[in-house]
Amino acid sequence: MGQSRIGIIGGGPAGLMAAEAAAAQGAKVVVFDAMPTVGRKFLMAGKSGLNITHGEEHALLRGRFGVAGERLHAALDAFDGAALREWCAGLGIETFVGSSGRVFPKQMKASPLLRAWLARLAEQGVEIRTRWRWAGFASDDLVFEGGKQERFDAVVLALGGASWPRLGSDASWVPWLQERGVLVSAFRPANIGFEVDWSPVFAERYAGEPVKAVTANGVTGEFVVTRWGIEGSLVYAQSAALRDALEQSGAAALTLDLVPGRTVERLAKDLGRQPAKASFSNRLRKGRGSMA
Ligand SMILES: Cc1cc2nc3c(=O)[nH]c(=O)nc-3n(C[C@H](O)[C@H](O)[C@H](O)COP(=O)(O)OP(=O)(O)OC[C@H]3O[C@@H](n4cnc5c(N)ncnc54)[C@H](O)[C@@H]3O)c2cc1C
Repeated sequence: MGQSRIGIIGGGPAGLMAAEAAAAQGAKVVVFDAMPTVGRKFLMAGKSGLNITHGEEHALLRGRFGVAGERLHAALDAFDGAALREWCAGLGIETFVGSSGRVFPKQMKASPLLRAWLARLAEQGVEIRTRWRWAGFASDDLVFEGGKQERFDAVVLALGGASWPRLGSDASWVPWLQERGVLVSAFRPANIGFEVDWSPVFAERYAGEPVKAVTANGVTGEFVVTRWGIEGSLVYAQSAALRDALEQSGAAALTLDLVPGRTVERLAKDLGRQPAKASFSNRLRKGRGSMA
């Protein structure tokens, strides 16, 4: 049998990783992307530091994906957080574990990684065609805007859902797949902030304040109080569960442990030691200990 030809539509991290894996197994790979350059959302992610994985035990990482876990466990087991860090190191990108346990490239951005990755893909013989917008099927051929057609032994769709369409992932492909009988799940928001009905006084006084070193559902992290609610990494980690609760019952609660690692008894003792004449808020603040 000759060399397989694999077409990959979408040059985000998913498509590029598929290209690398297929080329490593000897396939001839062509990646198509509608945009003038690949990896635009990945570069945008790099602007906020690029959290690439978590430094925690593999079993904990595995548990972070809610109902999607069932589909993802095999992939996570085959390529865990440590493997991802090694993969980065192989591209010359050093990583570190931050105080929250999250892993970042030392340079805190995505562009050096993407550059090194694209160079390696070129060495592997992966062909990348930008400004090629996939526009549907004609029988077993892929059709691109402008009428060009291509046929492959296998095609990987790595189209990036529907978030941040200006970076390329506009989800225009949904009807083309549905017409061919492919079930497409409705898009749902993930990694999102939530509105909270703060009082005007609270919003005025605390909007922009970080809440650090607190725990929600066993995960320790931080988030920010905003004028309209809450956002930040700890909230994003809980957002799928909160979203599901909201959809099911119209309300969701995020239970926080503001003093993780201290028992209720110990906390009561620490609070009880505060002078009775101090204000209530000062007793709470000093009894808890300094906010990290
Ligand atoms: C502000 C921000 C911060 C983020 N921070 C992080 C972070 O710290 N850590 C993290 O892990 N993730 C982060 N993410 C999420 C991360 O960027 C995405 O999960 C990731 O980019 C998804 O990769 P993908 O390859 O599936 O899709 P995408 O990156 O969206 O790539 C899909 C590609 O498909 C192309 N495409 C779509 N339709 C067509 C078509 N019809 N024809 C041809 N090409 C098409 C698009 O042009 C695009 O290049 C962040 C995202 C944002 C927006």
